Amino acid sequence: MNSAKDLAADIRRSRQSATAALNEYLQVIDASEDDVHAFNLVDREVAIETAGKIDEIVDSGRDPGPLAGVPVALKDNLCTRGLATTCSSKILEGWEPPYDATVVQRLRAAGAVIVGKTNLDEFAMGSSTEHSAFGPTRNPHDLTRVPGGSSGGSAAAVAAGFTPIALGSDTGGSIRQPAALCGVVGVKPTYGLVSRYGLVAFASSFDQIGPLANNVADAALVLETIGGHDPLDSTSIPSPMPSLSDNLDRGVEGMRVGLVSELLEGIDEDVVTRVHEVADALTTGGAIVESVSVPAVEYGLTAYYLIAPAEASSNLARYDGVRYGMRAEGSDVAAMNAATRRSGFGDEVVARIMLGTFALSAGYYDAYYGKAQKVRTLTRRDFDVAYANHDVLLSPTSPSVAFKFGERSDPMTMYRCDTCTIPSNLVGDPAISVPFGTGNHGLPVGVQIMAPQLEEARMFQAASFIESQAPPRSAS
Ligand code: GLN
Repeated sequence: MNSAKDLAADIRRSRQSATAALNEYLQVIDASEDDVHAFNLVDREVAIETAGKIDEIVDSGRDPGPLAGVPVALKDNLCTRGLATTCSSKILEGWEPPYDATVVQRLRAAGAVIVGKTNLDEFAMGSSTEHSAFGPTRNPHDLTRVPGGSSGGSAAAVAAGFTPIALGSDTGGSIRQPAALCGVVGVKPTYGLVSRYGLVAFASSFDQIGPLANNVADAALVLETIGGHDPLDSTSIPSPMPSLSDNLDRGVEGMRVGLVSELLEGIDEDVVTRVHEVADALTTGGAIVESVSVPAVEYGLTAYYLIAPAEASSNLARYDGVRYGMRAEGSDVAAMNAATRRSGFGDEVVARIMLGTFALSAGYYDAYYGKAQKVRTLTRRDFDVAYANHDVLLSPTSPSVAFKFGERSDPMTMYRCDTCTIPSNLVGDPAISVPFGTGNHGLPVGVQIMAPQLEEARMFQAASFIESQAPPRSAS
């Protein structure tokens, strides 16, 4: 059972029970979760109870909603009422949010069954899920390799068949990069399309929640469910969610696609080959594909790694040993605060807080943070120029296929994983990663389609076509 859409349709028409479907997924979890470690927590009892309620609703002749009985996994930085939310950090130990994130509420209202909370790099800082305080998640395609990150648990959960749908968060690529490495679809929506209410903040001007799924249609259905205005998030766009599912089969005839030349540099050859195959497939489908330059993306990584830590250093100031989670002993409040933060945060989080604090310090602000913001504006301008003649842009999602544990232990090598994904976060545009065949070691390759703000429908249309042209898994 791979399609969430079909599963929901079957459950709504009483062709299958939500309870039976959930049990099938729980069996898959039981069989391989010890190997994969996608979850921080599986909420088995409540999931079974929820599935039972969905079945009762169907039996009584009512409609549970478009995601009726669909098992869903949630990245463990999304607040779930009364259910531990850890951000894979020791510092949140024992904390249970008093409310559900808006996306969680919307999933529940659409009939979804929340199965559990997935592993991530601590506070979503990382590209491999190696920075989790609870141990890494392993890539279901090769257990000696990373699933990507930071939403590695969510991507692995979908790839392993634990749930057909998962939610992740994407600040610099954390939905799309693990989706690419695990061979699933991952979407970073337009900034403001999906409410951030109840998403634990990392870098607020970048953070977006989005779906991971087995196919483009399921990702569209989930985004339609979770998107749209929410008064509880001041950055939420005050307009209704546009329809995405209607456009999927329209093909790419006449669509103008720009292949971003800067994002083909420094990329492994196996990945570049697949991107060129996608360009060829789009051309055969009637699209006009040409190379396009977006010069400022070359500075994207540098700008992101100043702005994101700057915002993080401010957002993470709230973990003081008083308001949330764990508390270490100290002789006075300041000592308690310092001891809590020193023992509660992992090394990568500490490094980001220091980097961010430094970048914002008096005397350095103009040199670093101010300059990075200028790069952000430049990037916006360069994208606008590219979109004047192109409907969507094409690039790799990740510079390589999944790598081995420990292989990228120096931060710069790890940060480079985000080269292709960060530009969309800097400007707030939507982007999707679609699996397209395999590369080195027979591992999945993902290609990225980017679109202007609120042009998700067009982006999904291109993605759906690419998916239809992807080589069959066994033959690739
Ligand atoms: N890998 C990037 C980082 O470490 C992006 C993380 C994210 O998107 N949450 O910051």
